Amino acid sequence: MLSSTPTTLTEAIRYYSDEQTCIDAVAAMKWVGGKPVCPKCETTEGERKHYWLAAQKRWKCYSCRKQFSVKVNTPFEDSPLSLEVWLIALWMLVNCRNGVSSYEIARATGIAQKSAWFVLSRLRLVLKVADAGKLAGKEGVEIDETFVGSQPKNWHHSKREKHHASVRPARVRTYQNAFTHQTAILGMLDRESREIRAKVVPNVRKETLQKEILGTIEYGSDIYTDQAVAYTTLRDKYVHQTVNHSIQYVNGSVHTNSLENFWSLTKRNLKGTYVAVEPFHLDRYLDEQVFRFNNRIGYNDGTRFQKALSQVGGKRLTWMELTGKMQPKGV
Ligand SMILES: [Zn+2]
Repeated sequence: MLSSTPTTLTEAIRYYSDEQTCIDAVAAMKWVGGKPVCPKCETTEGERKHYWLAAQKRWKCYSCRKQFSVKVNTPFEDSPLSLEVWLIALWMLVNCRNGVSSYEIARATGIAQKSAWFVLSRLRLVLKVADAGKLAGKEGVEIDETFVGSQPKNWHHSKREKHHASVRPARVRTYQNAFTHQTAILGMLDRESREIRAKVVPNVRKETLQKEILGTIEYGSDIYTDQAVAYTTLRDKYVHQTVNHSIQYVNGSVHTNSLENFWSLTKRNLKGTYVAVEPFHLDRYLDEQVFRFNNRIGYNDGTRFQKALSQVGGKRLTWMELTGKMQPKGV
């Protein structure tokens, strides 16, 4: 016997194989009390129910007579793929510790790898927390930046030449240009809530990083960084302590080790599962890593999935927005 909601992948596959169960699950997360709201005129299902058109699996609005399905205003909208596929892909995405590739999703659900890639890209958007508020920082916040991407010194000679030629003409080539293909990420980890924020930043200049930090951490918090120049003058707003990485990595409570762990996990996943990630897509991969990290304690696979599902409303990413190309058929 299944309990009310599944807690393992096997149970989830069985549970969501029923289309009506999928519709109910999404409706419950999307609308208050699972009661459908017309996307056109925003009439809620009150005394007079929206018509349920059983054959089309859609509602017809009582007021404006328009039809709508549970997929409207979700990442699943306009997709011919069944809700079952979407939900199982979401389950795997949030519960596979090391991430999941489009090939694995394709094998598990029977869809094409290209479709699976698109499914995953859209689902990553679900995992992004739009307005997460500031980190309270009661027990301090670790701050650190890192770079993702391969280094030219490891590239084949011909690729390196091609890259250098494409970056700048030789006469204006500078030391900095050698790093333009690497993408910078800034991370902040609240030690009390164990919550992490990480995002791609255009560069690691002082003004760029400090703007992010001031917008993310409550003033007056203890903060811990290394001695990078970008972090100087934060003392005006925070109790700032630094650790000199050329001498030691931990000085009592002054360290950025928890964040370093997150970096190594993220980099391992990027290398192992995803092989290659365009800088353009990196922000979404980060959202995925951050979601799993922030929701690892106090959740089981079932509740973690429910949490992700509760974030589906109003999030949609079209193929055009994702790739800048036309959407292929059947995706
Ligand atoms: Zn309506």
